[in-house]
Amino acid sequence: MEKKQFQAESTRLLEMMIHSIYTQKEIFLRELISNASDAIDKIYYKSLTDPQLVFDKDNYFIKITIDKDARELTITDTGIGMTAEELETNLGVIAKSGSLAFKKEIEAQDGYNIIGQFGVGFYSAFMVADVVTVISKALGAEQGYKWQSSGADGYTIEPYDKETVGTTIILKIKENTEEERYDEFLEEYRLRAIIKKYSDFIRYPIKMDVTTH
Ligand code: ADP
Ligand code: MG
Repeated sequence: MEKKQFQAESTRLLEMMIHSIYTQKEIFLRELISNASDAIDKIYYKSLTDPQLVFDKDNYFIKITIDKDARELTITDTGIGMTAEELETNLGVIAKSGSLAFKKEIEAQDGYNIIGQFGVGFYSAFMVADVVTVISKALGAEQGYKWQSSGADGYTIEPYDKETVGTTIILKIKENTEEERYDEFLEEYRLRAIIKKYSDFIRYPIKMDVTTH
């Protein structure tokens, strides 16, 4: 499959995330939950003007799934989803609100210690994961797509059958090293604490599902 390249400006932030010496890696979850919540908001706002679209609150939620054996942490939302084009433009570029301010700031300070203050966005997933997979089906679309990247060498996009509208992000959590511990991001109690700390105000239910083999 053809590997597509990230835009040059994205690569530096991505590299920083991958090799991050930043200690507050836990903020990746805040970023992914905030994106999930934004995606549900988009359906909600659409429903206000589109009489065909009924927003039944019970159908909209964020789900966190842990699979310890596979070292996978999955964040699923029932939000608006992304088309293939949107996967490409939204996840391949850093030109977004929070990330842009962040990029300016690191260029000014060359600082690793300011990450937490900014919405660094989707790329923060690479602080804890060596492979990030995004499976998404956009509202109104027939076909779903899978975006996958193991970092700065690029990403792939291919059709992927997904029944429901929304997005599933699968993080293959890094192995522990001498210096860094990642196992904690597969621990339910730890994830609950991170969610409580940063995502307590999220308006949609955050469900937790722990797979045991
Ligand atoms: P920001 O949230 O500041 O726009 P991010 O890097 O967090 O920047 O996300 C980039 C873009 O990717 C978002 O603006 C959105 O369009 C898209 N996106 C990310 N996650 C999701 C998701 N779960 N559902 C739908 N779109 C998403
Ligand atoms: Mg975001």
